[in-house]
Amino acid sequence: MDPFDNNSTDRANLPRNMIENSMFEEEPDVMDLAKDSAAFPTFPTLDPDEVVFEPSSSRLLVRGLGEHDIDEDEEDCESSARLLGMSFMNRSSAHRSSSSPYTRQSPPRSCSRPSARTMVVCVLLLVIVASMTMVLYFLPGCTFTKAGCPKPNKAAPLEPVYPVSTNGEPFPWAQFRLPFSIHPVSYDITLNPDLDNMTFTGCTVITLSVHHNTSLIVFHGANLNITKASFKVGDGEAHDVTLLEYKPRQQLAFKSAAELKPGQLCVLTLDYSASLSHTYDGFYNSSYTDKDGNKRVLAATQFEPLSARKAFPCFDEPAFKATFLIKINRKANYMTLSNMPKAKSTPLSGGFVQDEFEKTSVNMSTYLVAFIVANFSPVSKNVSKTKVSVYSVPEKEQHTGYALETAAKLLEFYNNFFEIDYPLKKLDLVAIPDFLAGAMENWGLITFRETTLLVGKQSSPLEKQVVASVIAHELAHQWFGNLVTMRWWNDLWLNEGFATYMQYTSLQTVYPQLDIGNLFLAVRFRALDKDALNSSHAVSTEVNAAEQVEEMFDSVSYEKGASILLMLNASLPGDQQFKKGIIQYLNQFRGLNTDTNDLWNSLTQVSMLNQNVSEMMSSWTSQKGFPLVTVSLKGDQVTFTQEHFLLTSDNATHTSTLWNIPLTYVNDSCSSAPECRQVFTLKTKTGTLKLPGSVKWLKLNYRNTGFYVVHYGDEGWAALREALSNNVGVLTSDDRASLIHNIFALSRLGRVSFHQVLNLLYYMSNETETSPVMEALLQLQNIYRLLDKRQEGGLVVRMKNYILRQFGSLMDNQTWGDENSVSKQELRSALLETACRLKEENCIKRAKALFKQHVESNGTIRIPGDLQRVVFTVAAQSDEDWVTLLNMYANTTYDAEKRKMIRGLASTQNTRQLVWILKTALNGDIIQTQELPLVISTVCNNFAGYLFAWDFIRENWDRLIEKFPVGSYALQTIIKSSTSQFSTPAHLDQVQCFFSSLKERGSQMRSVQEALETIRLNQRWMDQNLSTLRKWL
Ligand SMILES: [Zn+2]
Repeated sequence: MDPFDNNSTDRANLPRNMIENSMFEEEPDVMDLAKDSAAFPTFPTLDPDEVVFEPSSSRLLVRGLGEHDIDEDEEDCESSARLLGMSFMNRSSAHRSSSSPYTRQSPPRSCSRPSARTMVVCVLLLVIVASMTMVLYFLPGCTFTKAGCPKPNKAAPLEPVYPVSTNGEPFPWAQFRLPFSIHPVSYDITLNPDLDNMTFTGCTVITLSVHHNTSLIVFHGANLNITKASFKVGDGEAHDVTLLEYKPRQQLAFKSAAELKPGQLCVLTLDYSASLSHTYDGFYNSSYTDKDGNKRVLAATQFEPLSARKAFPCFDEPAFKATFLIKINRKANYMTLSNMPKAKSTPLSGGFVQDEFEKTSVNMSTYLVAFIVANFSPVSKNVSKTKVSVYSVPEKEQHTGYALETAAKLLEFYNNFFEIDYPLKKLDLVAIPDFLAGAMENWGLITFRETTLLVGKQSSPLEKQVVASVIAHELAHQWFGNLVTMRWWNDLWLNEGFATYMQYTSLQTVYPQLDIGNLFLAVRFRALDKDALNSSHAVSTEVNAAEQVEEMFDSVSYEKGASILLMLNASLPGDQQFKKGIIQYLNQFRGLNTDTNDLWNSLTQVSMLNQNVSEMMSSWTSQKGFPLVTVSLKGDQVTFTQEHFLLTSDNATHTSTLWNIPLTYVNDSCSSAPECRQVFTLKTKTGTLKLPGSVKWLKLNYRNTGFYVVHYGDEGWAALREALSNNVGVLTSDDRASLIHNIFALSRLGRVSFHQVLNLLYYMSNETETSPVMEALLQLQNIYRLLDKRQEGGLVVRMKNYILRQFGSLMDNQTWGDENSVSKQELRSALLETACRLKEENCIKRAKALFKQHVESNGTIRIPGDLQRVVFTVAAQSDEDWVTLLNMYANTTYDAEKRKMIRGLASTQNTRQLVWILKTALNGDIIQTQELPLVISTVCNNFAGYLFAWDFIRENWDRLIEKFPVGSYALQTIIKSSTSQFSTPAHLDQVQCFFSSLKERGSQMRSVQEALETIRLNQRWMDQNLSTLRKWL
C-alpha cells in the first residue's frame, strides 16, 4: 500500500511547504468576531456558530475582546500566556460562545501544578501509604488466618486467561494471532450490496484443511451480523454451529463436536449482513458528483491491513493464503470489478445481475482481495499476455492515458527485471473518488486516489512524476507482497521497503526524464531524521496488537527499508548480484510467505565473493537507528569510529549497538566520478585505514547511498568547506546535499554549533543544483518555523533576511513560464514558494499577476503546474481571492489542481476561514475527509492557524479516530504536523496531558512518543542555539 495521502514530494516534506508569514513584519489580519461576517465569502454560507472557535492558545490574534486578566482556570496546562511566554496576550475569552461545538473544555485539573509545599506533604503521605500497602500486598492473604499458609504446590500448571465473549461465556482463544492448526484452502464469496440503503448481505463458504489435532476453529469477523453458521467435516452432513465472538480482537470461534484430525477437509458456511462502511476501510461507500450535478454512489474495498474481516468472515492474516471465487449481485445499471476477470454474468430476478469472477489462479492473502461496484469506464491495452486497463469516473476518462501508457511500460519492465511474468490475465488500475491511502496493490485490481492516477494532457512533468512513481510502487508489489508475502506484519518492510526501492530504481531506467533521483535522496534524508529518534523502531519489529499493525505503515518500513536495500545493492560487486539474489528469492518463495532472513539467505546464496549478506544486513534490520561515523585524518592514516546516532541520548557512546557498515569514500584527488569511490567495511567500533598517500580531505558516503551520518571533526569540515568554496563541482550534487543534511543533523545532536552550520552554507552562494538547495531551504525553514512559533521576533526577521541573502539571486533568476525539466521545476517551486512566503516583493507581484491573468481568462491562460501552489497560496491571502479560489475549487474536476487549491485555501491567515476549512474537511461534504490530514498540516505550517489546529484535534479526537484508525498513517501525520513545531515546556506538558488522557483511544501510539521527543529536542536546540543565532545571523 502507499499510505501517503500526499504526492510523494510531500512525503519527503520538501520545502514546497513554505515559510509562513511572520507576524512581526506584518500582523495577520485581525478580526473582530462581533462583526465582519459581511466581508466573508458568500460561498458557502457560514453558520456563525461554526466559526466561534477560538483556540485557547491563539487568543492573541483575536482583538476587540476585552482586556481582562487571565483567570485561574487558564493558568493551568493550557494557558496561552505561559505557553508562549507573552505578556500582551492577556485577553479574555468572554466573547466565546458557549454553544459552539468548539468551545474549549476545561482541561483536566490533574494537569495543573500544585504549590511546592503541597507537593512535599503529598509525597510524604504517599510514601507512607505506599510502604504499608506493599507490606500488606506481599504478605499472602493467609498470613493472618488461624490456619496459616499452606505449602506451595510447585506442579500447578499455568492456565491461560480467556477473555469473555459478547454472550458472557469464556472465549476459547486468548491470543491476538489465530491458531495455526487449521488453514483456509479456498473461499467462495457471494455478496449482495444495496447501494440505496448502504448495506450488504453475504454468504461465505470457506474450505479448511486441518494441520494439527484440534476441535477449535478461530477466525476473524468485524461488524458482521452473522445470521447462520454451519460446519461440515469431510463428506459428512453440515450442522449449525453457535459462534462466540470476542469483539476487541475481532475474533469469532466455535468448537467442533468431534476432534479434527490432520489432513481432514472441512467446510464452514456463514450467512451475514452488514452496513457498508462510512470510513475508508472494509467494504465502504464513496460518492462523487457527476458532470450533470447528480450525486453518484459506489462501493469499493480497502482491506490492508486488517479490514477484509469487515467484508467477509475470514482468516485475516497474511500467512493464511487461499484461493477466492467471488460473485457479486448488482443492479443492471452498475458494473463490478474484482481481482480476476469476469467469468460470466447471469440475470437474476428483480432486474439484478450476478457477476461471477474467475477463481483466483494464485493463492493469495486476504488483505489483497478487492471488489468494486460503480459506474466507471475503462481504457485498455494489451501487454504480452495481460490486458491492462485504467478505470475512472466517465467524465475523467481523458485523464487516464498517461497512467495506461506508464502501467504498460512498467509492467513490461518488471516482467523482464524479475524474470517472472505477472501471473494474472488482467491488471486494472482504478481511480476511486474518495480514497484515503495513496494507492493499494490488490492483486489484479489496484486502487488509487484520483490524484495519484489521473493526469491531464497539460499536467506538469512533476505531476506525472507523482503518478508514475505510485504506479511503479504498486506494480512492484505484484511481485513483492502479492507473489511473495511477509509472514506477519512485523516484516512489512519486505513488502514496502522493496516496493519503495523498486519505485525509484525502475523509474530511473524507464523514465529517466522524470529525475526521480532527487526525490529518492530527499526521502532517505527524512528517513534518517525519523530514525534518529529514540521512539523509532527496528525495521523488523514485534507486532502484537491492531494499532501496532497500523503503525508499521511508516517511514521506517518504507523509506528506511528502501534505503538499506540501496546501500546493500551499492555494496555488492557488479550491478547484477543484487538482481540475481532477488530473482532467486522470488523463485524460491513464489506463492509463499517469508521473513527477513529468507531474503538475506537468497542474496547470500548468489554471492560471488561468499559474502554473508545475512550477517551484514541483520545489523540494519534488527536494531533501530543508524550509526554516526566519525572520521579523522592524519596524513595517510584514517580512523573511523561508529556510535549510535541517537538524538535524545546524552552520551550514546555507552550503547553497545554496532552496525556492519559498507563505508564508501572519495578524496580530493578523485572525488566525483563513480570510479573514485573506495569501500571500507567497518564492523567494529573503531577501524583504521592507511591510504596510498596523504590527502587533503575525505568525503564519506559517496552520493549518500549509505544509511549513516558522518562527522568530519573541525578540521575535516573546514577542509571540505574550503574545497567547495573553491569549486562547487568538486563533489557531486548528491554529496553536497548529504553534507548539508549531515551538518544540520549534527547540530541537532549537539555535536557542532550552529555557527559551523552557517560556515558550511557560505559556499551556497555558488550553488545552483536542486538537491543541495532544497535540503538547505528545508532545514532553514524548519528553524524559521520554530523561531516564528516561539515568537522570537527579531530572530525571525534576521532568519528571513539571511535566507533572502543566501538565495536571493537564485530566486530572482527563476522563470515563471513553462518549464519542462522536472529538476528545474522542483528547484524553482521551492525557491519561489520560499520567496513569496517571506513576502519578497517581486515574487508576490508575479504570483498575483499570474492568478489575475488566469481568473480573467476564465482559466484559459494556465498557471504552470509546479507554480500553482505558490500562486494559489499568495492568492488565498486576500479575502476576495480566497473566495474566488474556493469557487474555482468547487468547479474544478482536475484533482491535482484541486489539492493545490486546498493547500492555498488552508494557508489563509483569516481565522474565520481557517475554522471553516478545518470543520468542512472533517465533515467531508465540500472538501473530502481524505484531505483532512493535508488541511491540518497546511494550517499548522502557518502561524495564524497552528494553535487553532491543535485545539481542533483535541476537541474532535473521537471523530478523527472514527475516520482514521488509531496508529494509521493519516493519524500519524495529524499528530506530527500539529505538535512538531512546539518547543516550550508548557506545550510539552499540554501534549503529554492530552495524549495520556486518551488511554486506549490513542495514548499508546508510537507517534505520541515521537511527538513528545520532538518537542523536547526542539526545546533543547533552542536553549543551545538561540545565543549563537543572535550572534551570527
Ligand atoms: Zn506499498
